Order: sequence, then C-alpha cells, then structure tokens
Amino acid sequence: MLYSYFITRSCLHKEKETAMKVLVLNSGSSSIKFQLIRMEDENLLAKGIVEKIGSIDAIITYQPEGKAKIREIREVKNHEVAIEIVLSLLLHPQHGVIRDKAEIDGIGHRVVHGGEDFSGAVLITDKVIASVRRCIQFAPLHNPANLKGIEACEALLPASPQIGVFDTAFHQTIPPKAYIYGLPYALYEKLRIRRYGFHGTSHSFVAHRAAEFLKTPLAGLKIITCHLGNGASITAVDGGKSVDTSMGFTPLEGLVMGTRCGDIDPALVPYIMEREKLGTKEIDALMNKNSGMLGLTGTSNDMREIEQEAANGSERHRLALEIYCYHVRKYIGSYMAALGRLDVLVFTGGVGENSRLVRRLTCEGLDALGIALDPKKNEANERDISAGKIKVLVIPTNEELAIARDTRRILEGAGGD
Ligand code: ADP
Repeated sequence: MLYSYFITRSCLHKEKETAMKVLVLNSGSSSIKFQLIRMEDENLLAKGIVEKIGSIDAIITYQPEGKAKIREIREVKNHEVAIEIVLSLLLHPQHGVIRDKAEIDGIGHRVVHGGEDFSGAVLITDKVIASVRRCIQFAPLHNPANLKGIEACEALLPASPQIGVFDTAFHQTIPPKAYIYGLPYALYEKLRIRRYGFHGTSHSFVAHRAAEFLKTPLAGLKIITCHLGNGASITAVDGGKSVDTSMGFTPLEGLVMGTRCGDIDPALVPYIMEREKLGTKEIDALMNKNSGMLGLTGTSNDMREIEQEAANGSERHRLALEIYCYHVRKYIGSYMAALGRLDVLVFTGGVGENSRLVRRLTCEGLDALGIALDPKKNEANERDISAGKIKVLVIPTNEELAIARDTRRILEGAGGD
C-alpha cells in the first residue's frame, strides 16, 4: 500500500515534467518483443524484437517512431543482454527516443500464466514473483521466460516499477461450472487442474473497443470475441466479464489452430502413443507443433498460403479451411447458448482481422441465428461488417497497448489484485 502510494506520488510528480512512458515487454524463451508507449496520447515511440536469444546470430529489429527501421545480427547471450541492447537502442543518440533511463516510468510485462492467483494486473513484488514461479508447472515454456524478462529489468532498471499483466487474468470470472472438467474433483483440489483460458488481454481489449464503437455500455452487452491468430481462442463476454473460453488448462484446447489440434477425443492420446510408439514429449509436440492447419495441409500454418492453395484447387487445403471455420462456428453457437443472447460478434487476431474468407465461411448460413455478413463490407474489411440483427465487428487487437494501459492504471495507484 505504502509502495503504491509512493509510486503514485513520484509518477504524478514526473507527469508534470514529462508525459508518462511505459515500456511493454513480451519475453519468450528465445525472443523479447518490446514497445515504448507515451501514455498521454498512447503514441508508440519505438518498437522492436530481439530474436534467437542465446545464439551468436541473434536478430535485433528496432523501429523508432518516424525513423528508418534498424536490423542487426549479433551475439546475444541471454535475456539480460537482450534488454541491455533494447535500452541502448532506446537511448541511442541518433536512433533513440529517450535521453535517460529514468524516463521509463514503468515496465509492463506480459505474463502468460497467473493460475488462480491473479484476476488483474499487479505491481511485481517478491510475492508476485513467487506466484509466477509456482505457475511454471502450468506453463513450463512461457513463465520461466517471462521471469527472465522481469529479473533482467530488476537488474537493469531498478528504479522503474514493474507490472505483471496476465493472459489468464481476464478469465478468472469464469464460473466453476465452466472451468471444472469432468475429471475426479480431487484432481482440481490437488493439482488445480481446471480451465484457465488465455489471450485474456486481447479478448478484454476488443470487448471494450466493441462497446466504445457501438457507444453502448459494456455492462449491458453480450459479446463473443474470436481471437484468430496462430494461436486461436473464443470467449463469451457477459457485461464485460469472461464467462467461458475455448482454451483450457493449456492453450492446446479449443479451436483448430495454426499448429495445435484443439479439441480431440482425449482417449486418442494414449492410443496414438501406443500405436506410434511415442513418449510424452513426442505426443505433446505432435499435438502442439505438428497438428492444426499445418498438420492438416501438410504444407503451412499461414492462412494466406492456405487460402491461396485452396484457390488453386487443392482439396486438402480447402478441407483444412472448412474444418477451421466449422470449429469457430460451433463455438459461436455454443457460446450463444451459454450467454442466452448475443449482441456482438468480434473477429480479431491476424486471421480474424484479415481473412474475409474465414469470416465468410464461419458465418455462412447463420442468418436464422441473427448473424449475417454484408459481403461488400466484409470484403472491404470494414469495422462493422454485419447485415443481420447481431453486430459483427472486425476489431484489430493491440495487446501491447492493453498492457501499457494496465501498467499506467497500477502506476497511478488505481490498484489491481
Ligand atoms: P500470433 O498468434 O502469432 O500473434 P497473429 O495474430 O499475428 O499471430 O496471426 C498470424 C496469422 O494471421 C497467420 O496465420 C497469418 O497467415 C494470418 N494472416 C495475416 N494476414 C492475413 C491475411 N491478409 N489473410 C489471411 N490470413 C492472414
């Protein structure tokens, strides 16, 4: 509480001199994506990515606002070195956008798994770090990488408060009837096996944007948000709260995705392992990395290429597209039932924002349910593409901005969990 008060005072004081700037970091196992955002006008000052961290030929890409993009290949030993490079770029006399590290008022970290501990963004303390560490069991690839980013910032930017924004947080409002699996209840009690859901920052962001666009309070809207990227999930949002989502204990459940299989009969896991003589790591890789659109087509998980191949007459690619859209459609139907009524359907993510074909195939024949697309508006990628009673909107997601806003809220002392 005292710390939060101190942050508030120091930030407010700073705001008088200069607008608040937030550094958003998305730390993966071998990459760090970053954006520096000026919160006054939510303007992006610079963005970039350090890829292949841990190798001698790591790729650094940096784009300062209004200036040329910079690309460099060099050795980057670890996450701390990567963040050191990010800072040197932001402070660079020629390409930089700030003059002093102290101009970074706060750092917003994307953290993948917050388990049941976080239902909102939080100031990162030792207690929070311990919780994120406990959640490694649920996200063994992601949470350790997120922690590396946090630790590197602690070392390099000790004066800037760090805020954790969790992919799972938005879904903490899902009721037990939707998050408990039909497994022995003891497994929930013992191992916290349940549906957690992911992409929460994106689902929440586009739901808010939809309400703003429609000039209707979010509290009165029933929305289904379809985040269709390489990973994909659908969420039922009732009055601004997530009430169900398609990803589960891990991001493997739900829709057919770029390389993930989504829902399958769980009995297939031991069956395939036995027949194909696979170990646990191998079956995990099969379902996470070699399935979905890549597994179905045998060539690609890029929707543009798949659409092109289908247009060129490839039956397999056409079938893959049909399977993909059929799953999205089934989830829309089931979430309409879960919500009891639907006001808005939102498409977002790389596929949702761009693929006219995926949106068309998904919504085709749903007129009787009130979902219909205006073909011209869909083709033109307009914001409102609906022709029926239910609003169908295309809303670009911006997870970095959502993280920056959460960070600002915590810095200004509005609090979190
Ligand atoms: P990630 O989940 O990695 O953040 P994105 O949300 O950026 O992914 O989405 C990546 C996907 O978006 C890719 O499969 C890509 O093919 C698809 N995509 C991007 N642009 C288009 C387009 N114009 N038409 C169809 N698909 C597109």
